[in-house]
Amino acid sequence: MKSMLVVAAVGFLQDTGWQFKLISQAYEVLSDPKKRDIYDQGGEQAIKEGGSGSPSFSSPMDIFDMFFGGGGRMTRERRGKNVVHQLSVTLEDLYNGITKKLALQKNIICEKCEGIGGKKGSVEKCPLCKGRGMQIHIQQIGPGMVQQIQTVCIECKGQGERINPKDRCEDCSGAKVTREKKIIEVHVDKGMKDGQKILFHGEGDQEPELEPGDVIIVLDQKDHSVFQRRGHDLIMKMKIQLSEALCGFKKTIKTLDDRVLIISSKSGEVIKHGDLKCVRNEGMPIYKAPLEKGMLIIQFLVVFPEKQWLSLEKLPQLEALLPPRQKVRITDDMDQVELKEFNPNEQSWRQHREAYEEDDDGPRAGVQCQTA
Ligand SMILES: [Zn+2]
Ligand SMILES: [Zn+2]
Repeated sequence: MKSMLVVAAVGFLQDTGWQFKLISQAYEVLSDPKKRDIYDQGGEQAIKEGGSGSPSFSSPMDIFDMFFGGGGRMTRERRGKNVVHQLSVTLEDLYNGITKKLALQKNIICEKCEGIGGKKGSVEKCPLCKGRGMQIHIQQIGPGMVQQIQTVCIECKGQGERINPKDRCEDCSGAKVTREKKIIEVHVDKGMKDGQKILFHGEGDQEPELEPGDVIIVLDQKDHSVFQRRGHDLIMKMKIQLSEALCGFKKTIKTLDDRVLIISSKSGEVIKHGDLKCVRNEGMPIYKAPLEKGMLIIQFLVVFPEKQWLSLEKLPQLEALLPPRQKVRITDDMDQVELKEFNPNEQSWRQHREAYEEDDDGPRAGVQCQTA
């Protein structure tokens, strides 16, 4: 258990990338009530100026002593690890709010032995490591040189204590904790976001003489088939026919709370491909102020008719209604070329060059050329 804690602590220091100096200063403040008062009143500057006379960490490595349990006065502040769980939610859940039940497996202090692991008084210090949980081996590795190796005590497996097998608690077999299923209710509030954390203070694994860590629920929003969220706004794409783009339309949108909105374009209005329009107050509810909402942004995609949708003799009628064509003056020195369908995989000039380079530099140069 102890070694796990050390791993966690080292991971924490590496992850945050904080400097040892800053951390040791922070612990210095937190661990010393006098300094904490100074800090609360005057901030970091006050500590630097007026914090003399109090005991402090002489080296940043002293923090490690704290995690190893070396500093006696720190032992009370040791905490268990936080447990992080992901909770999958839909955009509808985040829009409407929902309460979800989540079953967790967690260690609970054994009720039968109250976390002792056996009968009262049955716990004794491990005779092999004298309660340290670690064994120190000294090895001579050369003339006048010794190496000190620390290993987890084989007798007590790092616990520092042992219980006579006949006195061991039957419920937890001396482990002091039992594994239990616990249901927690997670309240997903209206307007919460993907990645938002919901904290359950002290709901982590219990361990004797250790303040349990927190359970942290991280919301993981599934993609929605219609809406994309951007901050408080919802974005959707809507296909409209060319006739609708030019002559007006009426469309319906089903909201995330199952209402149906009707949107329409004003007569005479032209919607171009890619145009953005918005409906106010139909976006996501604002977290902690859910009566207010963001915008619903609609991007219109104009669907053009397929080839030969209109007979050739009818085209002049259509042309007469549309804005006039642009006239081009043709002269003899211009070149008439053929307009073809573009296929991105074709790239004929590139393939020719590739074959060319294969001869010179081998096939690898050709591959590089293709990916470049
Ligand atoms: Zn027990
Ligand atoms: Zn031991």
